[in-house]
Amino acid sequence: MKTDCLPFPREDILAAALAPPSGPASGDSWRIVRERALRASAVDEAAGLGRWWYEHRHGRLYLSAVAASLLGIAASGCHEVADALLNVAPQDAWRLRSTLDAITDVHLGTACEFRVNVTGKGTRWLKVQPVAREGEAIVAGMVVDITSTKHAAMRERFSFALTQYLIGTDTFDAAIHKIIQLVCDELGWDWGAFWVREEPEGRTGVLRCRHVWHAATGDYSELRAVTTTASGDTCHGVLGQVWSGKAQWVDASTDTEDGGRFASARRCGLQSGYFFPVTYTGGDGGLHSAGILEFFSREPRQREAQLPGLAESISALIAQTAQRMAQQERMRVLAQTDEMTGLVNRAHFHYLLDRACEQCPPCASFGVLYIDLDQFKPINDAFGHAAGNVVLKAFAERLRELAPEGAVVARLGGDEFAMMTGYGLEPQAVEALAQRVAACAREQFQYMGHELSVSASIGISMYPSHGANTAQLLHAADAAMYASKRNGRNRVSHYSDAQGAEQDVLAKQLIMLSELQHGFERGEFFLVYQPIMDAHGEALAAVEALIRWRKSDGTIVPPDQFIPVAEQSRLIVHLGRWVVQQVCHDLPRLHAAGMHGLKVHINMAAPEFLDSDLPAELMATVRAAGIDPSSLQIELTENMVMSHIDTSLPIMRKLTQLGFEISLDDFGMGYSSLSLLKTLPIASLKIDRGFLQGVPRERDDCAIVRTMLDLGRNMGIGVIAEGVETDSQLGYLRQFGCTLVQGYLLGRPMPLPQLLERYRKA
Ligand code: C2E
Ligand code: CA
Ligand code: CA
Repeated sequence: MKTDCLPFPREDILAAALAPPSGPASGDSWRIVRERALRASAVDEAAGLGRWWYEHRHGRLYLSAVAASLLGIAASGCHEVADALLNVAPQDAWRLRSTLDAITDVHLGTACEFRVNVTGKGTRWLKVQPVAREGEAIVAGMVVDITSTKHAAMRERFSFALTQYLIGTDTFDAAIHKIIQLVCDELGWDWGAFWVREEPEGRTGVLRCRHVWHAATGDYSELRAVTTTASGDTCHGVLGQVWSGKAQWVDASTDTEDGGRFASARRCGLQSGYFFPVTYTGGDGGLHSAGILEFFSREPRQREAQLPGLAESISALIAQTAQRMAQQERMRVLAQTDEMTGLVNRAHFHYLLDRACEQCPPCASFGVLYIDLDQFKPINDAFGHAAGNVVLKAFAERLRELAPEGAVVARLGGDEFAMMTGYGLEPQAVEALAQRVAACAREQFQYMGHELSVSASIGISMYPSHGANTAQLLHAADAAMYASKRNGRNRVSHYSDAQGAEQDVLAKQLIMLSELQHGFERGEFFLVYQPIMDAHGEALAAVEALIRWRKSDGTIVPPDQFIPVAEQSRLIVHLGRWVVQQVCHDLPRLHAAGMHGLKVHINMAAPEFLDSDLPAELMATVRAAGIDPSSLQIELTENMVMSHIDTSLPIMRKLTQLGFEISLDDFGMGYSSLSLLKTLPIASLKIDRGFLQGVPRERDDCAIVRTMLDLGRNMGIGVIAEGVETDSQLGYLRQFGCTLVQGYLLGRPMPLPQLLERYRKA
């Protein structure tokens, strides 16, 4: 047997399968056979039809020239079975041998399909078919090449399976994995890999292996290890050639490659390789490469293998899948990013933070930064939204550059951003990062030749100390950010600081509220009255009732400290009613003391005032006390009136209809529009103490005070200057026509007996 040219490794099996039966052949029979074979040869050749005659008793085959050529045997004529079937694929040899063995004196035998491997032709599929008995002990048959039919059927089967696979996969990686597996299973390859191009900046593309799959036909660990760490060049070597669009055959026993991968393949028992590009025509009409598929087989394969014929359709299907998935990916990205800045959007940030909390390794920590731009609204208002957008985009870019590895930067909406650091960052490092963020916000932004500046208020919370989940962490970072805002903006606060301070304040407020409640029940409140005088400081025009709280220990608490606390509960309403009642109780005594027509100013907080029952209640109280409503002037801060104008205006109108008067307190602190001011039913406005402080030195303050005086005069209402402490202030006010003044210079707030004593008229 010519074992030296046997291309199959499993020679023992083949030898056993093709062992010839012994015994002489009949000379006559073979002569007839030869004649027939010669006669038919020209026609047979044209038809590709090979003929054979089998003498089953002695196991000898006579092959026509076409049959010999199909089987890859050098000469036609008589052969021992083993020699005739030399090139039959070992996995099919048993089958073919059983087919021949089934031929007997009485039995013609059946057809059989098998592969042969002929040097220079590759693997071909042949079909033998016994046809007729010719003389004694000889069966005639034919053999034809069915490779193309076989391949067509296989291609169809393969394409069908491939399409099914690709439709059913969600990710490109899963699709590639299945394709490699399918090629190996269906087309008899042992190893497959997929290479993609990675583009490190500024360098030519590098090809890296993204997927490896192999059958259980051997130990491929060495090749796997080499392949997964290897990198190819898009310009050189086998991979480079394939990348440029040319499919390549590789012979692992002779070809070489950088990194010695082919040598590894050989050591793993692989022989032949086929590489082909996966390309597609993009939307721009150009040809794009999605990657390279490589396959290796334990068997030597040649150009006639099925894979090259299928490569194009595999490539097209993969490309289609890649495009479909790229589209899905684009949609996913759209759903997860903020359109304007390209950062992660709020919803996706929450999702990522959820994941980060779930997957954070024990003992590791990470930080969350809540970033809010200060002074952003004025930019939008002054320069328009386009300018605002430029700032937001540029700031997003700065954040992206600052973000350390593993960090996620998000725009939560408006001018709010957030950053989540990677695992393992200590609070100091997070603080340093936040300071860098604050610094980058302070850098100027350019918009159409303008230099715009903002700053950032930042709050930091840490996982896990400030929260174990997204809601807690964001809440903590948000609270810390608000602490930054409150403390003057353009700063960084930690949750612990903010929370500590806030809890302190909250606890103190709660304690005070309960003390206030007790104090109210025990009657610890009293009123003092501060005179409001004419501009000469001679005649008492009115008094302002101011509340005080004398605690059980004797300390007197000023209203600035407890009114805001009382405002957080219904207590403020009770206190307010008490003040009105107390005033109604005291006023007749003032009138009786000769201060006829004296008005009392009463302060009212928003919760008391913004109650539609107030006019009726007030009316009932004054009536019960026998007081004319016009004796009461209710002081409402400009701020309160303006910020609740829809509710406050009807109540103000109702009160004035009933005869009460209204004064606009702390005037100048709010932002009333003049047109709105004209519609308010007010009897007076009180210039806030703050403006008096600069009078007469500060030009601005003086100008404001003069303007307010003019305003009051033009509107025909009184103007009360509050907080007059010096003679020069009083002189200035008088010079510019102020008619009513209030302040320590003219009289401090005092209890009723003192007031009575001081202003009693005979
Ligand atoms: P407000 O209505 O602006 O009252 C004027 C405040 O200025 C009073 O402080 C008064 O003592 C103070 N003041 C008057 N003249 C001068 C001066 O020349 N120099 C200085 N430095 N201060 C002067 P007070 O009594 O501590 O009241 C503070 C605030 O508490 C009041 O500001 C008012 O908003 C609120 N308040 C007082 N009593 C009541 C009340 O019965 N109900 C309500 N809701 N709020 C009240
Ligand atoms: Ca007041
Ligand atoms: Ca005031």
